[in-house]
Amino acid sequence: MAEKGRFAPSPSGRMHLGNLFSFYAAWLDARSVGGRLVLRMEDLDPDRTGEPWTSRIVEDLRWLGLDWDEGYGVGGPDGPYCQRERAALYDAAFAGLQSLGVVYPCWCSRAQRLAASAPHPGEERDLGRCPCRDLSRAEREARALVKAPAWKVALPHETIRFRDLIQGEQSFDLSRDCGDFVIRRADGVYGYQLAVTVDDALMGVTRVVRGRDLLDSAARQLWLMERLGYRKPVYAHVPLLLAADGRRLSKRERDLDMETLRRRFSPEGLRKFLWGLLGLPGEGDVPGDGLLSKAGREDVYVEL
Ligand code: GLU
Repeated sequence: MAEKGRFAPSPSGRMHLGNLFSFYAAWLDARSVGGRLVLRMEDLDPDRTGEPWTSRIVEDLRWLGLDWDEGYGVGGPDGPYCQRERAALYDAAFAGLQSLGVVYPCWCSRAQRLAASAPHPGEERDLGRCPCRDLSRAEREARALVKAPAWKVALPHETIRFRDLIQGEQSFDLSRDCGDFVIRRADGVYGYQLAVTVDDALMGVTRVVRGRDLLDSAARQLWLMERLGYRKPVYAHVPLLLAADGRRLSKRERDLDMETLRRRFSPEGLRKFLWGLLGLPGEGDVPGDGLLSKAGREDVYVEL
């Protein structure tokens, strides 16, 4: 099968250096193996994503010279390429998971969910057990009359192993390290994990390159792929970019966003800078085979 990589931005703000770093790595990786690239807009959340950011992302990627072969703004056989327009595909996957008996309704508040997912330092916590998992049928029916539930997947104590092209061998105990997670919110909006799993599979993505903060998401997504009978991609998780004080670059704080970067750099200059941040040998951006396996693994401090 032909290799295919992807850009999967969330249009919730102007891109910053961290986003660009992932996209540049994805582009280099796909091109280095003679693969294609798809651009997909991750605009599931109607309150936080959309224009003008969608257009800005397209314009900024083009300015940098990162091209794609299909997807948003270009078209192709596996569209639509905005997640907001793909609900019917997610519905089908959701129904498939329901028929396997791995989905249950959950009435926890957002605050309860956050508390459950943030163990105190040194505390061993099994993230998997949500109390809603154990509700009786009668209790579920009674609650459903009062409030629409979110839907979670029940993860088993199962170890997911995979080899990340950059971070090396990985092993996650699903129940302990990931925990049951929401695949559909109470308002019907699908969760990131389900949408990305369905999209990567149905768009024929064979290589997923993104930030290291999503490494444990790969375990969740691999498990979902297995349940849904999808073909699994190869993963490469790039290091995080950090400010001098150790905090992550973020869209909210407008750290080195595209407006600043475009004032400071030419497109060629910025690509060279990104190449250097990847810790790849040499100078120019001449892709070679299996390039990302030579990239650095450690998070990188960036001068602001
Ligand atoms: N949409 C996510 C982001 O912009 C990336 C998700 C992914 O690459 O799986 O951070």
